[in-house]
Amino acid sequence: MKTTVQLLKNHIDEEVKIGAWLANKRSSGKIAFLQLRDGTGFVQGVVVKSEVEESVWNDAKSVTQESSLYVTGTVQKDDRSPTGVELVVSKIEVIHEAVDYPITPKEHGTEFLMDNRHLWLRSKKQHAIMRIRNEIIRATYEFFNKEGFSKIDPPILTGSSAEGTTTLFHTRYFDEDAYLSQSGQLYMEAAAMAFGRVFSFGPTFRAEKSKTRRHLIEFWMIEPEMAFVEHDESLEIQEQYVSYLAKSVLENCKIELNTLGRDLSMLEKIQAPFPRISYDDAIKLLKEKGFDDIEWGEDFGAPHETAIAESFDMPVFITNYPKDIKAFYMKPDPEREDVVLCADLIAPEGYGEIIGGSQRIDDLELMKKRYEEHDLSPEAYEWYLQLRKYGSVPHSGFGLGLERTVAWLSGIEHIREAIPFPRLLNRLYP
Ligand code: ATP
Ligand code: MG
Ligand code: MG
Ligand code: MG
Repeated sequence: MKTTVQLLKNHIDEEVKIGAWLANKRSSGKIAFLQLRDGTGFVQGVVVKSEVEESVWNDAKSVTQESSLYVTGTVQKDDRSPTGVELVVSKIEVIHEAVDYPITPKEHGTEFLMDNRHLWLRSKKQHAIMRIRNEIIRATYEFFNKEGFSKIDPPILTGSSAEGTTTLFHTRYFDEDAYLSQSGQLYMEAAAMAFGRVFSFGPTFRAEKSKTRRHLIEFWMIEPEMAFVEHDESLEIQEQYVSYLAKSVLENCKIELNTLGRDLSMLEKIQAPFPRISYDDAIKLLKEKGFDDIEWGEDFGAPHETAIAESFDMPVFITNYPKDIKAFYMKPDPEREDVVLCADLIAPEGYGEIIGGSQRIDDLELMKKRYEEHDLSPEAYEWYLQLRKYGSVPHSGFGLGLERTVAWLSGIEHIREAIPFPRLLNRLYP
């Protein structure tokens, strides 16, 4: 019977056939261990010289790394293997022989691996990370569907920008100027006024000129937006969502977390509610920790975020930032005009900002004033202003960076491994 590696555990003691590639191989004079992968998982194939035909033994000895095969064998329970099974091989058919596969089991440098990203994706580690990414996407749809959100897709080509203009990718749209989306937020506000609770999941583009282990040029963002939801309720939804992601990965990616050597206790701790600290108190905390390179009114850099997060062993919300360092659409705190009703969610272990969110300004006059202060042209945003003219309501939303979350939950060093084909400052290939 033909099956996949993932389903082998349902066929104990049966003879099966799988299509697979040879990931790695060890052999002695009497026995060969073939590390097989078929995309759904990895399994060890065992070839015992004395129990197979000579041609099968010869194939097992000569088959090269990354050759494609059909392998027939009997599934056997094996408690030492992460998948719980191994395959006792009786037949090997070589579909295609790979010659001189460049990524060998020895160590390679990062640039070499990045040049060979199309092949590097086949490795056990990259496979584990992409499966975790897939689980986070699956759990995202599940969570928001359960909570009554509709998925609404904002445009990717836009005539105006949501945030500052310095990191915008410019392109031509026939005779007009256009930009690649940096965030779907403004459109999601319109969607929330039409559908109540919405979320988007799509690519966003930022011409980030800095090289950090947290920034990609092209990344995927999940952007929920909620009508009739004020700031505190939004924080509750955020912490429930992030806890749900951690729980889903823990439950459904055991093999992958094991492959990555992830410290599970760090993931088990991620449970709502999350601690909150105001921007004011975060500044005080940094001063206590000896930081003298930051003053009230300045935005945090990565070292600041990491230092703040170290005081908590969970993700932490930093709330109520000064209005001047945040986006124009954030609602001022009614008790203090100089700060806004916003929060960044900072992950532990140095992974930095996972979510940025806020309650939005719902008053037309105040929004017009912000346009003037930020030198934005109201004509380009006429449609956005109209949302405050026809049945304006309190509403809040947030954006979660998919790759930041994948990197954090997987416990990997650099964000470039959290997306299949990373776009980086000096990399548009492959
Ligand atoms: P940062 O302060 O780290 O530069 P940001 O405040 O510019 O992030 P937002 O505009 O708030 O980011 O975007 C929402 C989320 O998108 C962030 O919390 C983060 O998870 C993610 N994100 C932002 N920029 C990038 C990027 N260049 N690469 C990957 N993820 C990003
Ligand atoms: Mg940024
Ligand atoms: Mg930020
Ligand atoms: Mg932010």
